[in-house]
Parts: sequence; structure tokens; C-alpha cells
Amino acid sequence: MDAQEFRKHAHQAVEDIVNYMENLNERPVLSQVRPGYLRDLIPSEAPKEPEDFDLVMKEFHEKIMPGITHWQSGKFMAYFPSGFSYPSVLGEMYNAMVAVIGFNWINSPAVTELEHVMMDWWVRLLGLGDGFLSTGKGGGVIQNSATDSLIVCMAAATKRQIHALASDEDVDTSVLRAKMVIYGSDQTHSGTAKAARLLGYIHRVVPTDDSCVLKGSVLKAVMDRDVQKGLIPLLITATIGTTGFGSMDDLPSIVEAAKSHGVWVHVDAAYAGNAMVCPEFRHLQQGVEQVDSYIFNPHKWLLLHFDCTCLFLKDTAAVTDALTVRPYYLRYHEHDQGLVEDFSDYQVSLGRRFRSLKVWFTLRSYGESGLQQYVRNHYRLINRLEAAFRADRRFEILNPVHLPLICFRLTPALFNIINQSGIFISKADIHGQVILRVCIGTFNSTDETTDFSWNVIRQSADKLLMASS
Ligand code: PLP
Repeated sequence: MDAQEFRKHAHQAVEDIVNYMENLNERPVLSQVRPGYLRDLIPSEAPKEPEDFDLVMKEFHEKIMPGITHWQSGKFMAYFPSGFSYPSVLGEMYNAMVAVIGFNWINSPAVTELEHVMMDWWVRLLGLGDGFLSTGKGGGVIQNSATDSLIVCMAAATKRQIHALASDEDVDTSVLRAKMVIYGSDQTHSGTAKAARLLGYIHRVVPTDDSCVLKGSVLKAVMDRDVQKGLIPLLITATIGTTGFGSMDDLPSIVEAAKSHGVWVHVDAAYAGNAMVCPEFRHLQQGVEQVDSYIFNPHKWLLLHFDCTCLFLKDTAAVTDALTVRPYYLRYHEHDQGLVEDFSDYQVSLGRRFRSLKVWFTLRSYGESGLQQYVRNHYRLINRLEAAFRADRRFEILNPVHLPLICFRLTPALFNIINQSGIFISKADIHGQVILRVCIGTFNSTDETTDFSWNVIRQSADKLLMASS
């Protein structure tokens, strides 16, 4: 493809993006294809010769798009949302233009420096406290995922714990490592279990209370037992906004329990952290200034494209001490002089994308007030939906609606009927009970899509009750 041809197709792509977004709520939200549909439609081998790109585009629309579930539709209410905004698209486009791999400062100073500043912007926007600012000992970094962030924090916590326990250089640290325990609750996202398994740690699931909240007293009892057995508590993941139920762990008591054992406190606010741009929700993360690390995913709700997991650290040296490996080919003057930092020392992989560009475009384009308006609008819509649920006595809302998420019960059969009727919701297993979840928060969520979804849910319940009577 030459530049002229690229220009033609790129102009068309912009038209396609705008048309897609503007008409998305009219489409069925769920892909209608059957499993394996694509294998029958495309050749099993790559073409031997170059193909006409007009044909490729035609087949993209005819063959690929039917297999897309429309995450940006207002009728998408499953899981947590996936962020979109036009400035974020532009950020991704210019990222494709410069096509850098910003693992160190020297190979594109703006990549590192913009990320430092953007992470500080977030610290203030979310009210995390000055301890997370890069102007002091703290700082933020964009990671590939929440799970990658956990691996990084576990590595840092290990180094810190070993340093605290093994003042004598001769101590066999592998013996200590084998005794280390990672804690999460029965509601913690599976990333904690996966990271613990990957690094070979013991993983302990601590029970939550009836409201799915992890309390420090319960955690402390479990940790005390482990210590009595000779084990070493290492890290606890506390969640602000659990995946299934949207519950908020009791951070102050968890911090107290953890600190009594020198345990690293990591907060997973992947989804709920986004709400913190509005000060009225910050009471939900009370105690956050005390924790060691905190992640949130603005790619879930705050208008940014996947991937953009923001990890904030109280002590960045704990991470760089654990992760820095500096072969000769990565050395350069400014770093050797201590003038700059390299974000590859904050993450698992060496290579990294220029993700702060879309953050910069989006934050400048919306401003704090625009972000707040976006979040508050989704709260307004969930309040509208909640009122409809509460007025219909057949339904029982199970969760405190802290977030634009409603969990309800009727029967699992209702799940299938709803998802065949024009919206897409998801389910969760909470303390052994199946619940249905409806989450509002896409770029195209409106009063109309909210009312449409309520009608689908209500009419699906009518159908189900009629069939069973
Ligand atoms: N943490 C929570 C609370 C989540 O709900 C999710 C995904 O929905 C994640 C983390 C995502 O993890 P990852 O970024 O590793 O995909």
C-alpha cells in the first residue's frame, strides 16, 4: 500500500468510525454468528500475492464485523464497560504514526516524560494523596493490565520483605520465598490468584461478609494463623468495586491488619477508581493514602481505549529495586547520571506502547469537568434504572448501588431470555448463588438505551413467569 492508497482508506476509516458510533444503538448488541463461522469464510493460508485493499475492506465489513459484539453500544451492559472517545482514537492513531517502543528515556524522551506528568494528573484527579506523586518517592506507570501490575507489586513486596527479614546476606532467600503468602478475598478478581500462581506463592482466599466486603479483622485472623504456622504474609489485594458485586472492601481495617504484619497493601480499583474523579464518591476509598499501590483502568469507563492500566506506587524504588536488569546495550549517559528513569524498570516486559498520548489527548479534551459529567451521567442513568427495578416487586436488588451496577436475582433462565432480547448483561456467582448484573457506562449509554433495557428485563420476566404458570 502506498501513501496515496493509505490516504484514501484512512479517510474512509474515519467515516466508518463516526458512522459506526452514531448508529450503533440501532444494531443488535450481540454478534449473531455461530461458533467457527469465520473458518468457512476465509482461506486457511495467507495469500501468495498482494491483494487489492478494496477487497480486504469489503471483506472486513462482510466477514469480520458480523462477528463483533458491540461493546460501545448503549445496550451493552455486561461485565464492566470498555472505554471509547474520539480524542482517544486520535491518540491511538498518532501512536501508530510514531510507532515507537518507549522502553527507555533516550529512545523517545516524550514517551517517558509525558507518562510521568499524566500519572501525576491522575493522582490529583482521583484524590489519591500527594504520597503517590512522582515529585516525591511515589509515582505512577501505565501497565498492560491489572494482572501485570500485581506481578510487579508482588516482586516489589518480596524484595522489601526479604530485605526486612534477611539482614544476613547468607540467608537462603528461596526458603523465605517458599513461605510467602498472597491474600485476596472470595470476591477478588482472578488476577491475584493467577499472579500468585505464576510466581509460585501460596494463595489464600479470605471470606467476605454477607455484603461481599472483606474486613480487616477476618484478614488479621487468617494472617495470624499463617504466622503461627511459620509462613510469611506478603501482599493483600483489597478491592474497591469488586468484579461480581461492586462491593468495597473495608480499607482502613485492612491497612491496619496488613501493617501489623509488614504486608504490602495493593488496591484494585480497576473499575470503581474511575468514579473517583467525582469527589462525592471518594468516601468509598477512604484510607487510600495509606496503601502501597493502587490500580485503576481508565480504559474501562473513562473514555480511554484498552489498554491503559494505571498503577500508582507509594515507593517507586521498591519496584525498580526488584525489577531493574540493565545489560550493556540498554545503558546510556542520562540514565547512568541519574537524570532520568526508564519505565521498563517498572514492568515485566521491556517494550511498551506510547499510551500516555491518548491519556493526554483525552484529559485535555474533556477536562476534569468533562470527566465528571461523563461519570455522573452514568450514575443518573443507573438511578433511573434502579427506580424502575424497585417499583417492580418481582425483582430484588441485591447490592448497594455504589456504582452504575445493579445485581439482581430472579432465575438463571431469565439470563438467557434477556440476552436473546436485544441487550447484553452478565452473571456472577456470589457466595454460591447466581446473580444477574446490569452495568451502565458505555459511550453510547442514553436515557433511551436505559429505558429499552428495562423494558427488555421486565418483558423477559413476564415471559418467564407466563411460561412457568
Ligand atoms: N480487577 C477488577 C476488579 C476487574 O473487574 C477486572 C476486569 O473486569 C480486572 C481487574 C481486569 O484485570 P486485567 O487488567 O488483568 O484484565
